[in-house]
Amino acid sequence: MIQIAFRFDDPSVTSNHSLETLIIQLCCQYNIPINFAVIPFRKIEGQLIHFNKSKASHLIKAYHAGSIEISQHGYIHENNAIPSKKNPSEFVALTFEQQFKWLIEGKKIISQLFGDQSIGFVPPWNSFDANTLLAANRLNYSFVSAGWEIPSLLTNAIPIIPRTCQLKNVMAAIDNAQLFTKLNPVIIVVLHHYDFDEIHEAISPLVRLENLFQLINRSKSITITSLNKIAHQYNPELSEYNIKLYADRQKLHWRIKKYLPEDFIFITEKISTIKFFLLKIKNILSFSTLPSL
Ligand SMILES: [Zn+2]
Repeated sequence: MIQIAFRFDDPSVTSNHSLETLIIQLCCQYNIPINFAVIPFRKIEGQLIHFNKSKASHLIKAYHAGSIEISQHGYIHENNAIPSKKNPSEFVALTFEQQFKWLIEGKKIISQLFGDQSIGFVPPWNSFDANTLLAANRLNYSFVSAGWEIPSLLTNAIPIIPRTCQLKNVMAAIDNAQLFTKLNPVIIVVLHHYDFDEIHEAISPLVRLENLFQLINRSKSITITSLNKIAHQYNPELSEYNIKLYADRQKLHWRIKKYLPEDFIFITEKISTIKFFLLKIKNILSFSTLPSL
């Protein structure tokens, strides 16, 4: 069985609330408990403005109706990486004290809007370091959802749930997952407002999203899940294991890689099957030249 979860990044005091409302309506119609990763503050003309109840009313209503989940998406979503770094980041290389302060201030805004619930943390640009993870541990976030690279930490108590694809490649991810249904792969799709720009699109992106939801509803091999549900089934050991498997797969030749599952996570003991595949391949590679496949 394949599980699929959706995350929508970047709702804030300045984001497109009409589009977010349309996404909420569509997700409600198809019972998709999408996780909205909300930015607590934005900087407007040099002033910090927090997300408020009036601007967030569409999200608050849907959250209290049980239709959507909420997580915290950074602090103000500003790039603080030094110019020589090619990847943007709000948090990487900042001190623990700075990161802890920003996380706690952001968390307070999320609590004011949605109540004092356990929430996940989603760092902007999927980028974070050991200090971010340490701060997230201290503040008891229920998960961190980012990319595949994680800093090592002596005691990490938080499951790390990588995003595995975007809207533009979700069909390819589903096709690949169909080859490995026995291993129970989990797909985490991340959506952004720009995915719904209508420019140069023959079919409206909202219609494409609805088509995807219909396909999921019809499919006997796909079930809907959510980031909060995954966080309950997942644990830090399993996330480390998944991330290690991902890293091992990246080191393989493409001729071999294509026979292995792509960017999924696995939340069952069946993950050992993939480990078996990888060990087998490692053994082949260490005793012979690359086999022709
Ligand atoms: Zn973002």
